[in-house]
Amino acid sequence: MPEFELIRRLQEFMQAPAGACALGIGDDAAILDVPADRQLVVCTDTLVGGVHFPADTPPRAVGYKSLAVNLSDLAAMGAEPAWFFLALALPDGDPAWIDEFARGMAGLAGEAGIVLAGGDTTSGSLCITVTAVGLVEKGRALTRSGARPGDRVVVSGEPGRAANALRRLKAGERPDESDLTALEYPAPRLALGRALLGQATSCIDISDGLAADLGHILEQSGVGARIDLARLPCAETLAGLPEEERWALQLAGGDDYELCFTLSPGDPVSLAALSARCGLELTQIGKITSEASLVLERPDGRRYETASTGYEHFAGADKAGG
Ligand code: ADP
Ligand code: MG
Repeated sequence: MPEFELIRRLQEFMQAPAGACALGIGDDAAILDVPADRQLVVCTDTLVGGVHFPADTPPRAVGYKSLAVNLSDLAAMGAEPAWFFLALALPDGDPAWIDEFARGMAGLAGEAGIVLAGGDTTSGSLCITVTAVGLVEKGRALTRSGARPGDRVVVSGEPGRAANALRRLKAGERPDESDLTALEYPAPRLALGRALLGQATSCIDISDGLAADLGHILEQSGVGARIDLARLPCAETLAGLPEEERWALQLAGGDDYELCFTLSPGDPVSLAALSARCGLELTQIGKITSEASLVLERPDGRRYETASTGYEHFAGADKAGG
């Protein structure tokens, strides 16, 4: 398919509402109006076929997920999605593949209220780079650096599902449907991110695993944390696993795109109210401490041994994307 035809097709699927861009697709660059009281929040993520997702992933899921991982970064900053750019390298111009890819991406773009404002198209090994631009009230974005001793550590959803699906796919087994959905169609926690503005002291999205990503908050905030393993939210699909296998998935499994955040102790923010407001399970799993280490406490009070070297232990964990 010629390049202009491909761009036209993408545009057809992702019609920008009138006025969404001062100047959108079709010129040498886009022109975007930024409200005076807002800041831009910008992020980029690349997904490479066969590296970040199995080569036989349905194109609809590939389209969905390449936008979803970027929206997750906007969510973690508390930003409202505004525009995105799509740089595509495709091995061939298979129209059926492109339509499915565009359907997956357009569905999520519509839900999230984000508009395709430009991109680039080349031939090459399958590689999708999305740059997402969001807006946030000046000076209010959530960051990784604000956690303080005594803060509550909270996680959304049930981390470990995506890794459980990937584990079963690799073993040649059919994953549970809900786990497969978590892997292929992760829901960016945009409403939660917005609700946390002015509430959370720090926030991160979980792309590399809960322990590793919480580790980034600890490092950048200059604090530590004590996590109670008995409190980790557990998906029913993980409930039957031996506990150490389950903890490994919950703590080191990447690709869930849940949010991990901290709330100050004196704050009246009720998790139940926040949870009801966002329609999302929220669980307090521990507390921020002043010693610069991540302590994982087993239900019997002993430390979780494999974590004795700290969260970097999890750096080599399996992941599918992000
Ligand atoms: P140039 O040669 O000046 O870089 P292009 O032909 O690459 O121009 O792009 C023409 C227009 O199409 C631009 O507005 C660009 O943003 C848009 N575009 C190209 N590829 C994509 C894509 N994959 N998704 C969205 N817009 C695209
Ligand atoms: Mg170009």
